[in-house]
Amino acid sequence: MTELIPGRVLAVRERLTHAAHAASRNPQDITLLAVSKTYDHTAVRAAALAGQRDFGENYLQEALDKQKALANLDLVWHFIGPIQSNKTRGIAENFAWAHSVDRLKVAERLSAQRPDGLPPLNVCLEVNISGEASKGGVTPDALQQLAERVADLPRLCLRGLMAIPAPTPDPLQQRLAFQQVRGLFDTLNARGLSLDTLSMGMSGDFEAAIAEGSTLVRIGTALFGARHYPVAA
Ligand SMILES: *Cc1c(COP(=O)(O)O)cnc(C)c1O
Repeated sequence: MTELIPGRVLAVRERLTHAAHAASRNPQDITLLAVSKTYDHTAVRAAALAGQRDFGENYLQEALDKQKALANLDLVWHFIGPIQSNKTRGIAENFAWAHSVDRLKVAERLSAQRPDGLPPLNVCLEVNISGEASKGGVTPDALQQLAERVADLPRLCLRGLMAIPAPTPDPLQQRLAFQQVRGLFDTLNARGLSLDTLSMGMSGDFEAAIAEGSTLVRIGTALFGARHYPVAA
């Protein structure tokens, strides 16, 4: 079904532009991250040919297989899935970004394992604003301390925050959740950090995220179609 992908890339870009203008923002300040988990390299290639450059993956081995098949393309790879300690080396060696850092131990390993020949790994801290214990992410209470420590690690560049609010079809509820993340982001910056990335918004809620200041939306379904098996976020 790769023939549908170029049109979807254009359609999502148009929605992004429209949402940015509605919020009096410059669309160029918002990165479209194409989330390609469960889709094979032919889907990624079709999106790349339509001008898409940033791709997000949740599973290390699946991502490495795609990177290998697409090594001739100039793509920027983002790791957005839960990070187990035994996966940090593969992430540090093969990605430009990690969005889902929520523990100091994982951040320390990523920094120690980032190869000298590469620029620092761009990192977002995942925050858990819904308070669900089952979900990944640092609690708002623990965020400041974690951010300060991660900002000091030599081979990481702390860029911002990532969040996956509980899904809801209600645009007002969506905005309230993103507002909380934006508030945490502003507080950290007011206290001396210099964060420039708010990684929030997915296929079902990215317009609300843009209205609340998102600088990077992570879009899977709206670009590639429904995934064929359920995967944990
Ligand atoms: C799968 C995933 C997405 C994309 O979700 P869609 O609803 O398909 O757009 C975004 N962010 C994360 C962290 C994901 O795991």
